[in-house]
Amino acid sequence: MDKHISVAIDGPAAAGKSTVAKRVAKILNFTYIDTGAMYRAFTWAVMEKGLDPQDEKASCSIIPEVSIDMFEDGTVVCNGVDVTRAIREPRVSSNVSYIASYKDIRLAMVDLQRAMAASKSVVMDGRDIGTYVLPNAEVKIFQIASVECRAKRRYDENVSKGIPTSFEDVVADVEKRDYIDSHRAFAPLKPAEDSVELDTSPLNIEEVVDAILAIIHEKTGIEIPCH
Ligand code: C5P
Repeated sequence: MDKHISVAIDGPAAAGKSTVAKRVAKILNFTYIDTGAMYRAFTWAVMEKGLDPQDEKASCSIIPEVSIDMFEDGTVVCNGVDVTRAIREPRVSSNVSYIASYKDIRLAMVDLQRAMAASKSVVMDGRDIGTYVLPNAEVKIFQIASVECRAKRRYDENVSKGIPTSFEDVVADVEKRDYIDSHRAFAPLKPAEDSVELDTSPLNIEEVVDAILAIIHEKTGIEIPCH
C-alpha cells in the first residue's frame, strides 16, 4: 500500500471501541493504537508516586519523567513496569478523566500518538482522535451506545478479566467519565463534523466490525480482505 490510511474511532466510555478497533486493525493489517491506555498509564504513574490525580500542578510536574511504551500485543509498559492489567483497575478508571483533562498532559500524549501514526496505517481509538489528534484522518467514526448497554459490556469484561466491580459502580464510572470528558476545556469528547455516527446498541461485535469495514471501504476504496 503506497498511501497510509488513518482510521479514527471516537466515542464515550465503554462503547466497545477498543475491541472492534483491534479486530478491524488486524483484518486490514493496520496498527492499532489505544490512546485511552496512555492516559490510564499516566494516571497509574501519578498514583504510584503518591500524588493526587485531582491536583493538576502535581500531576503535570511528572511529565518529563513518565515514559509509556505500547506494544503490538497490547502490553503497556510505564516507567519500565508492565501496567497492562493495573491500568484497567477501578482506582485508575475513576481517576483517569481528571488526568486527561489537563492540557499539558494531553499535549504530551498527543505528540506520542501522532508520532506513532506518522509512518503507517493505523486504527486509533479515543475521544479526540477525529477532532484533534488526526484531523486529516481518512475515516472518522463516532461510536455510541446507551449507558446501560455500555455498562453491561464493561461489567462483563471486568468479570471475565477477574477485576472486582459491581454493576452500579460501573454505571457510575461510565457516567462520570463521560461527563468530565465531554465538559473539559481542551479537546473534549465530541463527534468530528465529518465523522460517521454508529450506534452499536443493537449490534454484536461482528456486526460493528463489518459496519466499520464497510465505512472504510466506502471512504477509501480499499478492498476489505476476507475475514
Ligand atoms: O478509552 P478508555 O475508556 O480506556 O479511556 C480512558 C480515559 O482516557 C477516558 O475516560 C478519557 O478520560 C481519557 N481519554 C481521553 N482522550 C483519548 C482517550 C482517552 O481523554 N483520546
